Amino acid sequence: MQNLLRDVVIIGAGPSGLTAARELRKAGLSVAVLEARDRVGGRTWTNEIDGATLEIGGQWVSPDQTALTELLTELGLETFDRYREGESVYIAPDGTRTRYTGEMFPVSGHTAAEMTKLIALLDSLAAEIGAEEPWAHAKSRELDIVSFHHWLRGQSDDEEACNNIGLFIAGGMLTKPAHSFSALQAVLMAASAGSFSNLVDEDYILDKRVIGGMQQVTERIAAELAVDPGADVVLNSPVRTLRWPADYDGTGTAGTAGTAGAGGYTVTAISDAATVTARYAIMAVPPNLYSRVSFEPPLPRRQHQMHQHQSLGLVIKVHAVYETPFWREDGLCGTGFSATSLVQEVYDNTNHEDPRGTLVGFISDEKADYAFSLDADERKRKITESLAGFLGDKALEPVVYYESDWGSEEWTRGAYATSYDLGGLHRYGADQLKPVGPIYWSSSDLAAEGYQHVDGAVRLGRYTAARIVAAQPAAQAQKSPGPAAAELVS
Ligand SMILES: Cc1cc2nc3c(=O)[nH]c(=O)nc-3n(C[C@H](O)[C@H](O)[C@H](O)COP(=O)(O)OP(=O)(O)OC[C@H]3O[C@@H](n4cnc5c(N)ncnc54)[C@H](O)[C@@H]3O)c2cc1C
Repeated sequence: MQNLLRDVVIIGAGPSGLTAARELRKAGLSVAVLEARDRVGGRTWTNEIDGATLEIGGQWVSPDQTALTELLTELGLETFDRYREGESVYIAPDGTRTRYTGEMFPVSGHTAAEMTKLIALLDSLAAEIGAEEPWAHAKSRELDIVSFHHWLRGQSDDEEACNNIGLFIAGGMLTKPAHSFSALQAVLMAASAGSFSNLVDEDYILDKRVIGGMQQVTERIAAELAVDPGADVVLNSPVRTLRWPADYDGTGTAGTAGTAGAGGYTVTAISDAATVTARYAIMAVPPNLYSRVSFEPPLPRRQHQMHQHQSLGLVIKVHAVYETPFWREDGLCGTGFSATSLVQEVYDNTNHEDPRGTLVGFISDEKADYAFSLDADERKRKITESLAGFLGDKALEPVVYYESDWGSEEWTRGAYATSYDLGGLHRYGADQLKPVGPIYWSSSDLAAEGYQHVDGAVRLGRYTAARIVAAQPAAQAQKSPGPAAAELVS
């Protein structure tokens, strides 16, 4: 068991926690990052499965995600374009399969016009409301007390159009049924990506991938911190208890309830592998996991309530690797959409300069419930049949097949990120980033730009670090706290 004294203890070594750690070290503050898993990366995880390198978690980068792209450059990581030559496939509600090019699905003239209308409406709401403070807008309550499903049907009588537009945000992003979250939450999702049109355009939102895998972002930061005497990253170290001073005075210098007490070292994080006493704590875990930590004293009522309204969605990310990207020979780019198929979206996910071909498919929310009700063989059969429905029978026989199952991961419990239940965003959103005493909150789930994405995790990591640096009392800011504060307390 390690005992450490640090300026900041960070709970969670995902992209947000490690970005915060990196920024805090740049500002001269000492850090310890406690990570529950035996690896860094959180919801980014690049792994070798049966000889194939797979992105089990987050992978794509879009042009608006400038915080992430800047970080990739700083870390010496390069990107490559998603393959997109050839036709896409759309499967209509009646099962008709159509090949098409361009952005609009091959639907009837009426459905296309309705989809165009809904996209324009969502673009305009996203531009008007924005991602920073959707809860502060005059329309926030009105939009937050209606489900996205019902809001869409209030705008259009075309069921296919409503289902297709719903798919982009419900199955495609929040991975919850469109009846379970609000129109305001959908507007936030769109605004966080710049516009709804950006989300609809797979060539934009799924533009690039990191050569060698997204998990390298956190692995490289952890490698930097490993040779830094003012930083520690402790794995296999789930934080069970966080003690903080209820009488915290907001300066990081006072408080009496912490273990060390004096000098502002008033927060103590107790994990399985380390006890860290610090001046500030960052909870860099998704909000659905806050309650896995025992806060002593308990968090205030507002946080107790708010955290019960944020939950993760559910999606199965299916990876199917083939000897060749056979669909390309057939003039297909590998992209397919259907609001009614078991696999709702499929893309060519072939690795950089890999002769083999990889498809990635997504099965979301209630369809994922159904898929998980099947035994593993039956589930694989149904899923590969669904892939074949888009790209042909060769899809039935992958040489490597793997299902990312984040719902079973104790330290995540779903995918991709959390969202509020109906009515929660306008009710609680303004308080989600408010520190509680010396405890700050940082994760992609709380981001404005880049919400739900690695980019948002990076943005919040930077923002949280900047807030802590700004909160430094003058005397603390002037000292050089690295090695001095890094001493063991016992
Ligand atoms: C299947 C999937 C696909 C995705 N696709 C994309 C994509 O293509 N592009 C994109 O940008 N984003 C994507 N995302 C989302 C992206 O991965 C996340 O937004 C991002 O990883 C969030 O980073 P974070 O640091 O906020 O949280 P996390 O990555 O979840 O990191 C939190 C860390 O905290 C740790 N932890 C939790 N509780 C404790 C505790 N009590 N003590 C210590 N440690 C704890 C966890 O183990 C974890 O390592 C995807 C996610 C998934 C799951």
